[in-house]
Amino acid sequence: MPESLSRVPVQAIKGVGEKKAALLSTLGINSAKDVLYYLPFRYQDMGELRKISELQPGTSAIVRAEVLSANLRTTLRARKKIFELLVTDGTGRLKCKWFNQPFLKNRFRKGQRVLLSGAVQYNFFEKSIEMESPAYETLLQQGEKAGRVLPAYKLTEGLSGKVMRNIVREALREYLPQMEEFMPEDILERNSLPGLKESILRIHGPGEKADISELNAFRSPWQKRVFFDELFLLSLGMSLRARDEERLAALPVKPDGDLLKRFLARLPFKLTAGQEKAVEEITRDMSQGHPMKRLLQGDVGSGKTVVAISAIVHAVEQGFQAALMAPTEILAGQHFMNIHAWLNELGIRAALLTSGTKKKSSLYRDIASGQVQVAIGTHALISEAVRFKNLALAVIDEQHRFGVMQRAALFAKAEKEGPCPHLLVMTATPIPRTLALSIYGDLDISTIYELPGGRTPVKTELHYEGEKGKVYEAISRELEAGGQVYAVYPVIEGPEKESLRSVVKGFEGFRQKFPRARVALLHGRMPEDEREAVMRAMRGGEIDILVSTTVIEVGVDVPGATLMLIVHAERFGLSQLHQLRGRVGRGSRPSKCLLLAYPPLTEEAARRLRAMLATTDGFRIAEEDFLIRGPGEFLGTKQSGLPELMRADLIRDRELFLAARKEASEFIKRGRHLSASAALAREMEEFWAGKAMALKGG
Ligand code: ADP
Ligand code: MG
Repeated sequence: MPESLSRVPVQAIKGVGEKKAALLSTLGINSAKDVLYYLPFRYQDMGELRKISELQPGTSAIVRAEVLSANLRTTLRARKKIFELLVTDGTGRLKCKWFNQPFLKNRFRKGQRVLLSGAVQYNFFEKSIEMESPAYETLLQQGEKAGRVLPAYKLTEGLSGKVMRNIVREALREYLPQMEEFMPEDILERNSLPGLKESILRIHGPGEKADISELNAFRSPWQKRVFFDELFLLSLGMSLRARDEERLAALPVKPDGDLLKRFLARLPFKLTAGQEKAVEEITRDMSQGHPMKRLLQGDVGSGKTVVAISAIVHAVEQGFQAALMAPTEILAGQHFMNIHAWLNELGIRAALLTSGTKKKSSLYRDIASGQVQVAIGTHALISEAVRFKNLALAVIDEQHRFGVMQRAALFAKAEKEGPCPHLLVMTATPIPRTLALSIYGDLDISTIYELPGGRTPVKTELHYEGEKGKVYEAISRELEAGGQVYAVYPVIEGPEKESLRSVVKGFEGFRQKFPRARVALLHGRMPEDEREAVMRAMRGGEIDILVSTTVIEVGVDVPGATLMLIVHAERFGLSQLHQLRGRVGRGSRPSKCLLLAYPPLTEEAARRLRAMLATTDGFRIAEEDFLIRGPGEFLGTKQSGLPELMRADLIRDRELFLAARKEASEFIKRGRHLSASAALAREMEEFWAGKAMALKGG
């Protein structure tokens, strides 16, 4: 097999020295393969080609011609250097002039074919038409068709479009012939996709007849081909992993006994229809002999915790263990309290495990022996030291805060230690289905659409810096009515950024402003037991105003809290704002969210705040957030352990993604092997290289 083009350094390309290589590297281009796959982000229409004999002064035009002569001369009086190019296309002659660019002399030679684009002028002295400083392209060979449509590449300082196009052209000349088709032919055929070489060639030089609007919409067959490739490689990797996971056995948890019924009967409320359906779906999945993989999505406050606890009770009832992992210590602590309160009465033993937990070793022992039936904690749960006796269910709360790696870690752990646990992940940030598929692979989804009855939606108001008086008034009223207040700040202390209000200063401010109120401070740098004590007091109604950082962002549930003030609201992300707002409106009393913004606001910040005022619907918020931030950041795929898509776009190329997924799963189902195609195997290896979820054979 020929050497992989990903191992050919850019310097091997003609015209690329150390300096250009360094510039290219800042664009993420390090190899010949990178160059070939460096896709234009836009195509410029150079307009209709004109014959020289038809050129009209005062218009702009583009001509293709051959160089007759190239001369550098110096004007006598001003001693300026003028570079003159005389060209012909057979219908006439055209002179082009550039001032003070003597280096152009080395760019052109007689007989060369060029493309020139510029304003046509009439030269009265010479009685002929000419162009001054036209844009130019030198064409590689006779008949080269890089004509009307000029590709535009993302550039960096010191690297012009022209230079980039030349580098690409050289790379095409030298290395395109070495590119190997790696996509099985039947897949290309079924999806009407062109070959690899053709696609790469046409992407960089679409030719005269290309449909520019199609290219600019990224919908040409050639672009689709390379997008498909990436999506296929992604899907194939996920399918391979899914197949490996499917081979894992799980502990079947058959419905039996009445513990779950008893648990539900003791709840002070009735499950909503969405919760009920979710519990049903989960218990059904868990009765199978292979691991459940289910995403439970539901807006903030929709009551996902009860659903999770139901699943946990269901597992424990059968004599198995369950684990619940939360992204923050506060949230883990809260879950522990809830579960402890609810499960203790049922005779179930739960324990809390976070990095701050003392006497870990005895806890590890009790988990290993099965005495602890439910382990609740942070990512400390997936540390090496934790061994379960018979873990049947793993619940991950607020999955969007974790990324995929921890999930993988859970599976890896299970694989080593016996049967794989059923997995339930929960999120309040619903994501489009195709995206869910892309990060989780095959995954079933339960959705809770409604909020428990009797809640009035949180009223949201936006205030600016100058309107602090109104904010204080609102807080006073709330306190008088017996409500509790959160005041959230973006930073703990802000000495270097004086302009930013900090939680520490805010705390002092509230103490002075409301001398009779019980004001407390909460942030991530406080010791864990202090934080816990504060949260306990808040829950117990012993705190009136809790001045906090975003440590309370997710999951925290204090039904008595009725006012949320977010200071520097312009600094928070949309999902974050929505999560924070979700900390109130959890009881029956109407709640308020006050957004306090400090101008000037960026365009995006204004858009986020508008969205907050417009809706309390988490699904719409998620959509808007997604649109503002784009998929990569929204999903946090950068940290997720998945390969990053360089070319394809999960939203734009949704259809292609579905097609690629289908092909990938067929590929596996039919028992085809990566090893059958060395080129495909290599492509997979390079695509997944260095990823946390790298493949284990194929
Ligand atoms: P989230 O989905 O955001 O995790 P929680 O599970 O924290 O929401 O639930 C929010 C609040 O709603 C909790 O106080 C919980 O006890 C309560 N709750 C859950 N389900 C119901 C229900 N069916 N009826 C009334 N209250 C409920
Ligand atoms: Mg929650």
